[in-house]
Amino acid sequence: MDAALRRHRIAVIPGDGIGRETTPEGLRVLEAAGRRHGFELACTSYDWSCDRHTTSGAMMPEDGLDQLRGSDAIFLGAVGWPGVPDHVSLWGLLIPIRRGFDQYANVRPCRLLPGVRTPLAGRTPAEIDFVVVRENTEGEYSSVGGRMFPGTPHEFVSQQSIFTRRGCDRIIRYAFELASRRPRRKLTSATKSNGITFTMPYWDERFAEAAKSYPGIETDQFHIDILTAHFVQHPDWFDVVVGSNLFGDILSDLGPAVAGSIGVAASANINPEREFPSMFEPVHGSAPDIAGKGVANPIGQIWSGALMLEHLGEAEAAAAVLRAIEALLTEGGPRTRDLGGQAGTRAVGGAIAAAVARGRGGAGLRCRATHRPRRLGAVRAPRVRVGVPNPAGRDLRGPRGAMVWQVIRPPVRPGPLPRSPGRRRRGARATLCRGPAATGRQGRRRRLRTPARERPAG
Ligand code: ATP
Repeated sequence: MDAALRRHRIAVIPGDGIGRETTPEGLRVLEAAGRRHGFELACTSYDWSCDRHTTSGAMMPEDGLDQLRGSDAIFLGAVGWPGVPDHVSLWGLLIPIRRGFDQYANVRPCRLLPGVRTPLAGRTPAEIDFVVVRENTEGEYSSVGGRMFPGTPHEFVSQQSIFTRRGCDRIIRYAFELASRRPRRKLTSATKSNGITFTMPYWDERFAEAAKSYPGIETDQFHIDILTAHFVQHPDWFDVVVGSNLFGDILSDLGPAVAGSIGVAASANINPEREFPSMFEPVHGSAPDIAGKGVANPIGQIWSGALMLEHLGEAEAAAAVLRAIEALLTEGGPRTRDLGGQAGTRAVGGAIAAAVARGRGGAGLRCRATHRPRRLGAVRAPRVRVGVPNPAGRDLRGPRGAMVWQVIRPPVRPGPLPRSPGRRRRGARATLCRGPAATGRQGRRRRLRTPARERPAG
């Protein structure tokens, strides 16, 4: 961030399918938040996608990570498209970013938003409000292994799980820290130490060791099989849940599913030490079945934007975005089809952006910021016109000298990402988004360690 101007540099990767429809709506809301709360977003957009793979043979350029490195955060839509195998799109774009930037904490809030119907009968928003923290860089998803004697009767494959002390400790501690900032102050560990006899007992050991440093946090742990059942039967038991790469992956899809539509679920890939940019993306994929129809729900993308604002120190703005989402859902605002409405992507994005711009939405509605907002000085941004090259020059230059210019956009204008007026370099285009100053077993409950407090009856 440029401290003097309170400007955040954002790399935007719309990606594929509905990512191209939801990302502009996310940006629209972020811009409205910037105007209202006094910050600017300098956005550089990259066309890295399956389309790019089809035309040029790679999801992103070889120096892709270098191009992103100077950003304060990455705002991603969705990646994947029929015709490009999933493992190619995943390992060609998402995994290199997550691992290259050591985004070891994958964080997915699972909250039943007011006005959203959960598939779990009789559950209320107060009962479904937890966060899944997934280890994002090692564990079961290692690239260590191989295949021998292919095509013969002796053929075998092996893939190693890698659990390092550093990897376990840092994700478990991240989860403890997160739990310590939430009112319930409770952390659950996902394990399978009865069946996986080396790595999982080690994970349990590291969890127990870390727990000694957080005596104020209630802890428990479950084997992954029964834990998935508890997510469905007793979502109210959970506050923060930490798991290895595989277990966290499963739980972080199940969690949003119990919280209603996948279209509203948000996620963050965090590098807590801030040595590298963190990445924010909705949980959903590119959804080819509805792509191009303008019916995708943009709330997951917009909520991911709120997580990004929080990470950037704009906690007040992040809370305002969440309040606007909640107000839209409770006050009969436009809804997309997945939530039982008829509205399109732009109508929902526009309504949320307008609510953020008006600074309303949700007096009395609950919204939780995980840290206190920073107090920042007044901002004076230069006056600029559409398409006028940025006179400030150097500090706004995109990666690798990509052309950067400033665009004034009306607060709630619907539409795709602004197009570059100049030559695009390496698929990058950039805008300055302006801020306000400028204008189991048989389902049996298995509890491995009993916390001091009584658990709710199950
Ligand atoms: P992945 O990329 O994870 O393999 P996918 O792109 O095939 O998955 P998902 O994103 O997981 O699909 O979504 C599954 C289905 O849920 C989609 O086919 C779509 O019908 C629906 N869906 C997903 N996201 C949204 C959304 N934002 N709004 C409305 N419906 C959605």
